[in-house]
Amino acid sequence: MKDPICGMEVGKDSKFKSNYKGKDYYFCSASCKQSFDKSPEKHVKG
Ligand SMILES: [Zn+2]
Repeated sequence: MKDPICGMEVGKDSKFKSNYKGKDYYFCSASCKQSFDKSPEKHVKG
C-alpha cells in the first residue's frame, strides 16, 4: 500500500490508518494521517 499523502510504501501493519468511503488507507506517520483526515477528498481519486 502507498501512503496517499507522501507516496511512501507502508505496510498494513501501520498503526496510522483511516477509513474513508469504506476503504482503508495507511500512513507512515501521524502527520500524514492528520492531513488525510482533514480533507480526504483531496487525496483520494474517485
Ligand atoms: Zn506519509
